[in-house]
Amino acid sequence: MNTRIPLVIATRNAHKAVEIARILPSCYEVHTLAEYPEAPEAAETGRTFAENARQKAECISTYLPQALVVADDSGLCVDALNGQPGVISARYAGEHGDDMANNRKLLRELAGMPGAAPFTARFVCAISLAQGGRELAAFEGRVEGQITLCPRGTNGFGYDPLFLPDGYDCTTAEMPAAEKDAISHRARALAGLAAYLQERA
Ligand code: IMP
Repeated sequence: MNTRIPLVIATRNAHKAVEIARILPSCYEVHTLAEYPEAPEAAETGRTFAENARQKAECISTYLPQALVVADDSGLCVDALNGQPGVISARYAGEHGDDMANNRKLLRELAGMPGAAPFTARFVCAISLAQGGRELAAFEGRVEGQITLCPRGTNGFGYDPLFLPDGYDCTTAEMPAAEKDAISHRARALAGLAAYLQERA
């Protein structure tokens, strides 16, 4: 019998959940917090993506102690802004998850510093795997690129319309899903997770 291994993804961000489900091998059965509306909200007080991913994974795996819980903490780091928005990527403009406002704020900040162009940047994704309230393993993925001041594309989410990965002349919002998944920070971090889970099986 071919049994799929259940994983609970500790996110309420539907875009992230879709990408994670799409990227992970089909032997994993992906569940999200949409199935657990009563699950607690993790603190996310860390100074790094890895700390926040760990807080989310440990918080949800304390609530669901039997489950293998995977948390993603990710964001955009722009060199000209000393790594901002970084861990506050989701709430850069104030309200959590307002992608349009976040993009507008980033463009405003960069428009004020033309001398700093090209605006080198990277997407970073930290993945934490936890069970029974304890982190078992952690992984990171990055993709390097530049910020364009002219938003392009409607695919993806977040800062995708502003991010030109190195070696491409389109933004990650112009890429078909499979192309983004071939190079993304999230796919690179999840490759580490998949290898770890396979070794452990
Ligand atoms: P988190 O939910 O606290 O990890 O914040 C993630 C935020 O980082 C998102 O709301 C986006 O603003 C940004 N982000 C993370 N990954 C991506 C991506 O793949 N594309 C575009 N923006 C992303």
